[in-house]
Amino acid sequence: MIAIIFGPPGVGKGTQSALLSEKLNILHISTGDILRKAIQNKTELGIKSSKYINAGELIPDELITGMVFDAIKNISSDNGFILDGYPRNIAQTEDLDKMLLTFSKKVDVVINIVLSDDEIIKRILGRRVCDLCGRVTHVDYGAQMDSDVCEVCGGELKTRTDDTAEAIRNRLKVYYSQTLPVLDHYRARSIVMDIDGNRGKENISADILAIFKE
Ligand code: AMP
Repeated sequence: MIAIIFGPPGVGKGTQSALLSEKLNILHISTGDILRKAIQNKTELGIKSSKYINAGELIPDELITGMVFDAIKNISSDNGFILDGYPRNIAQTEDLDKMLLTFSKKVDVVINIVLSDDEIIKRILGRRVCDLCGRVTHVDYGAQMDSDVCEVCGGELKTRTDDTAEAIRNRLKVYYSQTLPVLDHYRARSIVMDIDGNRGKENISADILAIFKE
């Protein structure tokens, strides 16, 4: 199964992909996570990417496509994978179709998590991420505003550098202008499933799992 977890920034794509990946034993490929790791490790990709991420802009396609190809080229064909954060514009969507065709594969399902802008902004401004294990938490659920200790691994909970009010506004603008058209591409193939994101993560996860078990 090749699935895309789709939706605006802050809607919970990473959380839902991680839950699904664990429950179904499917590889989770998050382009945002790969880029943040590259920045942490100061690789060439990381150095080139950080200014775009901090401004809430998309990284140029030529950097992203090679990165995704590297992530999927060695996967075994058995279980498939979940894409989170990719594709994010029409050019990437076409690149993905071509890449998958070389493995005689195609996207099977697109899970579109729907949430209002007001709720998105509230969630992103309260989001804290562990700098060691990547666990995501929220100030409304116990994480403190500045820094805190991750209860899973003892790492430090931090605010993402692109979770500022200014970057969020830009990320939403980019989402509506460049990323949302991707959905039409997949709607034309009747593989989009819309999910109400304005609920607890367990309820959302149960709905997504049900789609996979159909
Ligand atoms: P995310 O963690 O998915 O919200 O991604 C964080 C940031 O990484 C985005 O705001 C972009 O700057 C960059 N990024 C992630 N995935 C892509 C992509 N497919 N194309 C371009 N930029 C991306």
